[in-house]
Amino acid sequence: MIMQLVDTHCHLESSLYRGQLDGIIAGAKKAGIRALITSSIEPGQWEQSLSLSEKYDIVHCSLGIHPWYIREQDIPALDSLKDMARRRGAVAIGEIGLDSNIDRPDFNLQRRVFEQQLAIAKEIDIPVIIHCRGAFNELLVAIKRTGLPERGGTVHSFSGSAEIAEVLMKYGLSFSLGGILTYRNSRKREKMMGVIYPDHFLLETDSPDIPPVEAKGSLHVPANILYNLKAAAEILCRPEEEVARQTTENAARIFNLSL
Ligand SMILES: [Zn+2]
Repeated sequence: MIMQLVDTHCHLESSLYRGQLDGIIAGAKKAGIRALITSSIEPGQWEQSLSLSEKYDIVHCSLGIHPWYIREQDIPALDSLKDMARRRGAVAIGEIGLDSNIDRPDFNLQRRVFEQQLAIAKEIDIPVIIHCRGAFNELLVAIKRTGLPERGGTVHSFSGSAEIAEVLMKYGLSFSLGGILTYRNSRKREKMMGVIYPDHFLLETDSPDIPPVEAKGSLHVPANILYNLKAAAEILCRPEEEVARQTTENAARIFNLSL
C-alpha cells in the first residue's frame, strides 16, 4: 500500500526547477504525495504560484511576502493580495514572518508587513504559513494583536523549543519540519516533537532548500519527503504509516484539502 503524504511547504517557483517540473511532479506522486503547497516569497512570484496550482492537480499555492524579500516598493502589491488569493483559490497566506537573524529589511518593517498579511489571512479566513527565526516573542505579540484565521496555520521549519511550541499551539498554530529532521542529533527537537505530535505536526520539504542528509549534493525535490518521514518516525518511535496518516490528516484539516 502506498502512503499518502502532503508536502506542506516547498518552492516550485525556484529557477532551479525550470523546465523540470513535469518530472518533479511525477516523482512526487510516485513517492505518495497527494498534495503539495508551493509558497511564493514575493509579489513577482504570485502569478507563477497560481499558474502552477492551476496546471498540476496535486499543487496548491500560498501567496505572500517572505520577510527576507520585503521591499518598500512591493508593499502596495498587498492591496491586490486579498482579492488574488480569494478569487483564485490560494490555500494559505505565506510565506510570511519575522526574522531577527538578519539586519535588512529592518525589523519594524518586517513586523508591519507581517501584521498586514496576518490581517488579510484573517479577513479572507485562510491559514498562514510562517517563517520565524529568533523572534518567537515578537511572533506571539503580533498574533495577540492581530489574531489568527479560524484554521490557524503553520510555523514552517520550526526551530523552537517544546515550551514555545506549547504556547503557540494554544493560539492555533501547528508546525512543519523537513530536512532538519534528518540531522538526528537534537534532544531539544526530540522533546518538542513529543509535544506537537500527533495533532500539530506536519511534513514539509522546503525544497529546493534544506535537503535531507541523504539527498545532499543533488537537486532537492518534494519526493525527498520520504527521508523526512523516515526520520520523523524514528524520532517519534512510531511506524512510518502512522506518521504519514497523521500528518496528512493534519494538513487536510488546516489547509482544507480534499485528498
Ligand atoms: Zn520556505
